[in-house]
Amino acid sequence: MNEVVRFIREVHKQKDGFIPLHAPVFEGNEKQYLLDCIDSTFVSSVGEYVTRFEEQLALYTSVKKAVSVVNGTAALQVGMRIVGVEKSTEVITQALTFIATANAISYLGAEPIFLDVDVDTMGLSPKAVGSFLEEHAELREEACYNKTTGKRISACVPMHTFGFPVHLDELFKICAKWNIPIVEDAAESLGSFYKGQHTGSYGKVGAFSFNGNKIVTSGGGGALVSNDEALMVRAKHLTTTAKVPHSWEYVHDEVGYNYRMPNLNAALACAQLERLDAYLANKRKLAREYQAFFAEQSIKFRTETPNTKANYWLMCVELEDKAERDAFLKTTNDAGVMTRPIWQLMHRLPMFANCMTDGLKNSEFFEDRIVNVPSSFRV
Ligand SMILES: *Cc1c(COP(=O)(O)O)cnc(C)c1O
Repeated sequence: MNEVVRFIREVHKQKDGFIPLHAPVFEGNEKQYLLDCIDSTFVSSVGEYVTRFEEQLALYTSVKKAVSVVNGTAALQVGMRIVGVEKSTEVITQALTFIATANAISYLGAEPIFLDVDVDTMGLSPKAVGSFLEEHAELREEACYNKTTGKRISACVPMHTFGFPVHLDELFKICAKWNIPIVEDAAESLGSFYKGQHTGSYGKVGAFSFNGNKIVTSGGGGALVSNDEALMVRAKHLTTTAKVPHSWEYVHDEVGYNYRMPNLNAALACAQLERLDAYLANKRKLAREYQAFFAEQSIKFRTETPNTKANYWLMCVELEDKAERDAFLKTTNDAGVMTRPIWQLMHRLPMFANCMTDGLKNSEFFEDRIVNVPSSFRV
């Protein structure tokens, strides 16, 4: 195991000191855009960088429109709301995800249903969703209902774990059959593609995060993307206090949110997005080096699946069992090399303990074995 520490230090060119899991890098136009922002006095809710970032993100992900917001959780919440998620409905998602996915469902008063992930992608399994719906669902006047709870199933939210795309085509077929809209949690997958198409652009809506630990950061921030322009107009309206345009009057036509991304954050995001392709190439190279090294150690390094291009945002290994995992975590962290286990499954948390689940066989397998290794851009 000391070999692992030695290799990680070597590959990150850091003989001593702490090596984090993922550190942001600012070596492009970040300072210039931020200074420009301050000089202009437009640092807050109005400014040109917001529009510019939305245009650049829409271009990068090949969608008609993007709407920037304060964080990825807000993007998920609003994304679900505009496709029809509401109080007392249910939303299908994976048990193996970051807490934000489940929280966003709860903010709308809806209840998550936690299903299993696939062995190859670590993301929501179309097979698991199909089986669950065959057993529990029925269509009533075009809407999908859970026969067991009597509640409407209002959305399906797959999450592209660590940037590895889920099987979107298969998931789409199943959700189309049951008339369930898909909102992609693409918070971790900026720069990841499925069959040549950017993740987040398949669903009715996609949600991204630009938190400090993501592949591109705005300090804090998020965005919604969609090819449905009317939906994005609605998202903009809702996230900007639902204000009706007027030269001087304050008119608001529903309860909206103050979720817009400040111009300062958008300035940082613009500079970061310009560097995304360089980050992706740099990470892909690191992934190849890790893969070769871990193969020698007989440790499984997780790689992208056929027909997909992963962003290798957070790289990870799959250990033999929980004991091996714990030993790996202890050796590396004791040596100042940050590694972290994958998340605890959502249904184990007290607030989600009563949610419906399926067998979760693969989720439990990964919960015991997956560990993230330092994945930062190497200057
Ligand atoms: C980071 C993340 C989010 C939320 O993003 P924030 O910007 O931190 O609110 C949502 N889902 C997943 C899977 C994430 O990793």
